[in-house]
Amino acid sequence: MSFSITEIIKKKRNGGVLLQEEIQFFIQGVLDESIAAYQASALLMTIYFQGMNDEETYHLFEAMLNSGKKFDLSDISGKKVDKHSTGGVGDKTSLIVAPLVAACGVNVPMLSGRGLGHTGGTLDKLESIPGFNVQLGVERFKKVLRANQSAMMGQTQDIAPADRKLYALRDVTGTVECLSLIASSIMSKKMVEDLDGLVLDVKFGNGAFMKTLEKAKELAEVLVMLGERKGVRTRALLTNMNQPLGHCIGNALEIQESVEVLKGEGPEDLRHLSLQLSAHMLVLGERASSLNEAQELAENALNNGEAFGRFRSLVALQEGDVKYVENPQLLFEGVAMHEIHFETSGYLSSIDTEALGLAGVQLGAGRLKVEDKVDPQVGIIFHKKLGNSCKKGDKLATIYFRKEKNLVEVINKVQGAVQLSEQAPEQYSLIKEIIGI
Ligand code: URA
Repeated sequence: MSFSITEIIKKKRNGGVLLQEEIQFFIQGVLDESIAAYQASALLMTIYFQGMNDEETYHLFEAMLNSGKKFDLSDISGKKVDKHSTGGVGDKTSLIVAPLVAACGVNVPMLSGRGLGHTGGTLDKLESIPGFNVQLGVERFKKVLRANQSAMMGQTQDIAPADRKLYALRDVTGTVECLSLIASSIMSKKMVEDLDGLVLDVKFGNGAFMKTLEKAKELAEVLVMLGERKGVRTRALLTNMNQPLGHCIGNALEIQESVEVLKGEGPEDLRHLSLQLSAHMLVLGERASSLNEAQELAENALNNGEAFGRFRSLVALQEGDVKYVENPQLLFEGVAMHEIHFETSGYLSSIDTEALGLAGVQLGAGRLKVEDKVDPQVGIIFHKKLGNSCKKGDKLATIYFRKEKNLVEVINKVQGAVQLSEQAPEQYSLIKEIIGI
């Protein structure tokens, strides 16, 4: 059957439902460039305004998934389960969860991304460990996975190439924030991993992509639907991003804080969320029959050093210098530090989390354009949590910086991001809901 892209655009513009064959024709045309960028952009914009039903979203996701190569992990024994976060500030749970779940006996083949905008990326964090190689290629990736039950690398050119082309168009045409397009984009990359299970951490709040719980829930439901229809057991945790996770924002700082948690210490919220995500992964990986049992397994692996041992061996297998994870202080040699203090007293009642993420970017910890370089050593330690009682003179943040000029702007941004109140705010709840259980 032959189709016309102009007719497909008009059909969607008029509120029609696209057929599987029409969606496949569109994705094939994007791939072989027989459809012009302006036509693809027009269709993306009509999808943005008209939306897609579940059937259309599934066909779009499947066509994008099939546009590239998939892993064959059938020669690796045991269940394979991954975790994906929709992105946040100080969100470093992947660094903890991958070795932790592996230490409990479930394989974690993890494909990760780079930071973009105000959110950080796992690959940038890993690369702050000198020597760490995130470009393994599929065969080496499998070798590391076989040896350690966890491996972490970046996407290769031949994984979901249609998504790469579409994302580049969406980025410059105001069509990123569309539920069906986001869901098909995320899942077309995750479903190449030959998984038995997937746990999604869907963030909501002022530091997240989805600002409201309702929007995050809608996204979570579509993501879970796509995974389940592919035969992969999928769950989504809706988690609060109205403050940074843990205290550290910035690549080496986040490695340091993850190592603390992997050694059974570290901030309570980061430890709690890492344990919960891991517990769900262990249930999906059939290593435990209940969440309680899974949580106990995961807690033991943190407390008895096995999780840290797995992280150490993952770093060694991926060519990183392990002395930096044994002694993370070494990661900060040569960087300058500056402390900011509270100028008044009160309860910490709100934090502009996105502004903190952007302050990190301004220091050089993140990138605004894909081609920007990141500085592994810079970042922010934000010392307080929502609801804390803060006194004038208490430490608000420690800035790890390189350039004096940036420092002044960053101080203003961090100070402007916090609000104090006389009354203690409502209790902060980190995990709001679980979809797909
Ligand atoms: N992450 C993705 O991979 N794709 C999107 O569209 C948004 C976030």
